[in-house]
Amino acid sequence: MRRAYIGLGANLGARGETMRAALRRMAELPSVSVEQVSSFYETPPWGNTDQPPFLNAAARIAFDGTPHELLADLQQIEQELGRVRHEHWGARTIDLDILHIEGMTGADDVLTLPHPYLTERAFVLVPLHEIAPALCIHEKSIVAYYNAIDRTGIVRAPELFAPYPLALIAACDEAGGIGRNGRLLTQVPEDMAHFRRTTMGGILVMGRRTMESLPGWRALDGRENIVLSRTMERAEGFQIVCDLAELWQLLGRLVYEAERPIFVIGGGECYRLLLPYVQRAYVTRLAGTYEADVFLPPLTDFMRTERHSGKDCIFEIYERV
Ligand code: ATP
Ligand code: CA
Ligand code: CA
Repeated sequence: MRRAYIGLGANLGARGETMRAALRRMAELPSVSVEQVSSFYETPPWGNTDQPPFLNAAARIAFDGTPHELLADLQQIEQELGRVRHEHWGARTIDLDILHIEGMTGADDVLTLPHPYLTERAFVLVPLHEIAPALCIHEKSIVAYYNAIDRTGIVRAPELFAPYPLALIAACDEAGGIGRNGRLLTQVPEDMAHFRRTTMGGILVMGRRTMESLPGWRALDGRENIVLSRTMERAEGFQIVCDLAELWQLLGRLVYEAERPIFVIGGGECYRLLLPYVQRAYVTRLAGTYEADVFLPPLTDFMRTERHSGKDCIFEIYERV
């Protein structure tokens, strides 16, 4: 296996979705494993500046085979995702460039390694710097190129910073309360069934106290259980991550294996930390108030798209606008 760095770019259509689809397809290639993906960045167009802004990212992969086979595989993915080659440096649904392959330099008619413009493009250096600052190209580190280049106009794409969009699921009383003394306010069977149905087969992300409030501290069946905790070391049935970077990495690996929805299930701190990456929220409205000491953060920038009444509670769905 050889290690390589891939640059991704898109400026037409549903850019984030296309980039995610490209990453998944790369990971599905038998000869490739995707090891790390940078944040997605919004970048001003380069070359022909009269075109929409780009999303850019970089990925570290390990692959088997020749560089030309890798390039052919990437071009196949570009084709499948609807890339039409109009003009060099023009608008495109997806662009996958081989930035660098460890231990390989050279050029022929179809492939130049490292990528000829790698060190001159901020939209390549910014994501690459995030995942490989110490990487050396032409005997100079990425961090050195990064520090020297004009990075004006490049920002992390906020809602797309997560390689995968998250869903949030919570039950609140009429005051917006979600818990008291580290436990749920109440257990309404209808809501428990709704939670199980909605999350089954998915990935659950929770804080330590939420994990400890699960019956018998047991992982919920039929779902991947992840705990976000700085202090916990291990717990049977759970995967532990200590910060967001580790969470993205783990989610990346899990979702590359099989695409599944990801749910943030609480508690308050976990909701607050992950809310910026949440695309959809499932909120159960419980009747009454329960003297909660933890509350759901306000869903500003969300719009209610669904609401239906059950026997004892109301089920709502919110989407980020
Ligand atoms: P740029 O190469 O400046 O980033 P581009 O990505 O818009 O421009 P494309 O039309 O995607 O250009 O590719 C043109 C050709 O570049 C490809 O057909 C491919 O053969 C060649 N090429 C050379 N080196 C590389 C590389 N390292 N990665 C990807 N393509 C490469
Ligand atoms: Ca390119
Ligand atoms: Ca290209």
